[in-house]
Amino acid sequence: MNEFELIYSYFRDISPKRSDVLLGIGDDAALLRVEPNHTLVVSTDSMVSGVHFLSQWPPADIAWRAVMTAVSDLAAMGATPCWMTLALTLPEVDCEWLADFSRGISTAISATEMALIGGDTTKGPLNIGVTVFGQVPFQQEIKRSGARSGDIIFVSGYLGAAALALKNLKNNAIPEPDNTKIFSHLLHPYPRLDWIPLLRRYASAVIDISDGLSADLNHLCVSSQVGARLEQEAIPLHPLLKKYAVAEAVDIALFGGDDYELCFTVPATQVQDFLAAVSLANLHCFQVGTIIDGAGIQIIDEQKNSKTLEPRGYQHFN
Ligand code: ADP
Ligand code: MG
Repeated sequence: MNEFELIYSYFRDISPKRSDVLLGIGDDAALLRVEPNHTLVVSTDSMVSGVHFLSQWPPADIAWRAVMTAVSDLAAMGATPCWMTLALTLPEVDCEWLADFSRGISTAISATEMALIGGDTTKGPLNIGVTVFGQVPFQQEIKRSGARSGDIIFVSGYLGAAALALKNLKNNAIPEPDNTKIFSHLLHPYPRLDWIPLLRRYASAVIDISDGLSADLNHLCVSSQVGARLEQEAIPLHPLLKKYAVAEAVDIALFGGDDYELCFTVPATQVQDFLAAVSLANLHCFQVGTIIDGAGIQIIDEQKNSKTLEPRGYQHFN
């Protein structure tokens, strides 16, 4: 099977149809119709075998995860996903692997209503490059840089299950069925697209939690030129984290990544309206702290002692 047969067999016809795709896979480039009065939002992620995933993981899960972690960045900007390109580097043509991988891509783009509009296919060490394109109405874009002193900090869901799964890959200490349950948090993240409408209306700044709450909240604070005060007791620890990693639960939630929940800030004057809208939308979030003047993150423990939190999380080249 050559490069073109591969593209046509596994990627040409797996995409939801969208009327804004004037030309998709098959030409030198795709042609897209952008909505009037909207901003185009673009984000790229690389998934490297052995770094971001293990080659022995189910191909459909590798594919889902590559798509969804990229989509999470669109959610964090308040953008609705629309289109995707796929830059795939494969060591060999393994038809069984490709069929399963293609099924995973198809499931993920269908779930997020994105059209696969092109890509590139090359031979080399396994690597999955995903570029996602989304749209947001003019001036409803949400950046990391909009947080102000006094804003309240929220997290969209429980933290730590994916990092616990990663840890358990090494020490294999969690029995079934919880092991499978925890592993699914790592393999099958759900980007929080359900939050987009509310964030557009109320959030002053948003970031998705890919590297861990401490590292990602720190990025938000640096961009906004503010500091943060976190209440340790308020950090939403995943129930399985509380069950299996009692002593380290807070550390795993703070410093472990891969949850793809959102961390966002809402001006204090808007919080009441925001929380009413949250319950109307049947969503749930956790209030974890406050934006303050200055720099860095202070964490208040159960004894009301304050200490400075190290913004450590996963970093390449470290
Ligand atoms: P070109 O040589 O003009 O860059 P290619 O031969 O690389 O084009 O690709 C042919 C067509 O197939 C293009 O439309 C390209 O976007 C698409 N394509 C290539 N690889 C993939 C892939 N892995 N997934 C989806 N579309 C792909
Ligand atoms: Mg090409």
